[in-house]
Amino acid sequence: MKNIFLKTIAIFLIIGCGKYVAQSQNFKTKNPYYSRTLTAPLQVSNTEWKKILSPELYQVAREGATETAFTGKYYEFDEKGTYYCAVCGNALFLSTSKFATTCGWPSFYQPVRSNSVKYRKDTSHNMVRSEVLCGRCGSHLGHIFDDGPQPTGKRFCMNSVCLDFVPNSKKQAEHLK
Ligand code: FE
Repeated sequence: MKNIFLKTIAIFLIIGCGKYVAQSQNFKTKNPYYSRTLTAPLQVSNTEWKKILSPELYQVAREGATETAFTGKYYEFDEKGTYYCAVCGNALFLSTSKFATTCGWPSFYQPVRSNSVKYRKDTSHNMVRSEVLCGRCGSHLGHIFDDGPQPTGKRFCMNSVCLDFVPNSKKQAEHLK
């Protein structure tokens, strides 16, 4: 009985560590541009980003790919905290502006600051859409639509891979250090 209990604990520890490693593997090497406090725009070439970012993140953030619906880690996620740009650390969205959708991607009705994000007209795939880019590093994050809830009526439809979530509890612990 004791053996089964210990095995169960070991399995939970392995799963927990695996999850932590997976979450921190957005970077191939240490990212010198990542900051959760700096907001000045970054000028970094894609050649440089390619050396730093994981292939999955590079493909979406720097080449404008879209992750498959219902596959991202945050589309059904409702913990309280802040979502940062996974490329540069810029604060993008608060969990309080996240809302449940059936679209298959994490969706928010407003960014943390008006300059957290910027916009660009996207005419790919025979559609006219507004692309949402990180206000600091210019990475592709997703698109914005006019079918969101009040108070803005907007839906910032984001790719999970471009988001880096920090729970409120962890942020508070960092402030106390
Ligand atoms: Fe960024």
